[in-house]
Amino acid sequence: MADLTIGVLRESSAGESRVALVPEVVPRLTALGAAVVIEAGAGSAAHFTDDAYVAAGAEVADVAAVYARSEVLLRVAPPAPGAAERMRAGTLHAGLLRPFERAADINSWSTAGLTTVCLDLLPRTLSRAQTMDALTSQANVAGYRAVIRAAEAYQGWFPMLMTAAGTVKPAEVLVLGTGVAGLQAIATARRLGARVSAYDIRPSSRDEVISLGARFVDLPGMLTDGAGTGGYARELTPEEQQGQQRALDEVIARSDVVITTAQVPGRRPPQLVSVQALAAMRPGSVIVDAASSDHGGNVAGSEPGRTIITGGVSVIGGDNLPAEMAAASSTAYARNLAALLKLLVVDGKVEIDLTDEVQGAIVVTHGGAVTNPVIAGLLEDGTGS
Ligand code: NAD
Repeated sequence: MADLTIGVLRESSAGESRVALVPEVVPRLTALGAAVVIEAGAGSAAHFTDDAYVAAGAEVADVAAVYARSEVLLRVAPPAPGAAERMRAGTLHAGLLRPFERAADINSWSTAGLTTVCLDLLPRTLSRAQTMDALTSQANVAGYRAVIRAAEAYQGWFPMLMTAAGTVKPAEVLVLGTGVAGLQAIATARRLGARVSAYDIRPSSRDEVISLGARFVDLPGMLTDGAGTGGYARELTPEEQQGQQRALDEVIARSDVVITTAQVPGRRPPQLVSVQALAAMRPGSVIVDAASSDHGGNVAGSEPGRTIITGGVSVIGGDNLPAEMAAASSTAYARNLAALLKLLVVDGKVEIDLTDEVQGAIVVTHGGAVTNPVIAGLLEDGTGS
């Protein structure tokens, strides 16, 4: 009998159809010497049946049994408040747990003696961390899905067409923010035949944009130092934001479709499409704000999960775009978690080594303390919300 039990629960947040483990990945966990137990129905919204998990070597149980038996719990999104009380002391729980927004939860996880692993904090530029990079795997899905949503809402063609009745011009697609989601959006819009332009404040993204066959939008007087730490963007000063806005407004007005994906870690997403820019767009244009969340988005007035039509322009607020392709996003995510557990499980037991660069970054609580220095600092300042 295995010493270690890895559990998976049905996700509790509204609209979350992803699941942290898919049948295909179960054998990678049992190969670590672990038993795998999954809550009945946990994969159903992503079309993975209980029978498929059992056939792959997992056991299906009710929620109480999963909590009672698991030393490791795998999640997609943060659990509902109070979950800490149901977990055994010393349990390791891992997921995209949004540590910047979850001060109260982090304190409760630490007090409960849980080991909390936040894949959101992975040092992504380390090559050995790339197999665990859940932000990338999910952003890839989001970028693809954003373009599919836009193409569905746009009432014109994406590709150029030469027909007997005349030529159809290709759609002009503008992608704002060219991290992982933005690059996937560019590639997807190009595959559909659109003419694609893109913009980001990180100068290093220019070559990536061009290599995908898109045009990089050079804004006059724009930054040469938009990069912050860890490959992420930094927040712009108010003066820089104004300069960016004026120049961007003109480019936006010429676009048929705009996909926005800009994020700055731990901050509200920057607003890139203003009310004025929206008013200058042609009726029938479509914007998908993939950065839209309860904390705001890149587009004035966008709302997560809603389509708002103003002056004939549709603004689609992406709300958990990866969950709209739950089978694909869950499969990629489960592979990320299997790679994580390969690092953390040694000889059939969880072993945490905070001196390891990857573990030191992603382990947020361990042994009754908040171990990640960045998150500990935020909690001390009271800036985590
Ligand atoms: P993200 O989701 O944090 O942000 C998306 C994009 O928005 C970024 O490219 C950012 O520069 C851009 N942005 C922010 N503010 C903006 C503004 N005001 N105007 C225009 N664009 C703005 O980014 P991400 O997809 O998580 O990627 C972050 C970084 O990590 C990138 O440098 C990416 O190349 C890097 N990365 C590296 C690896 C790797 O080395 N294996 C893997 C994944 C990501």
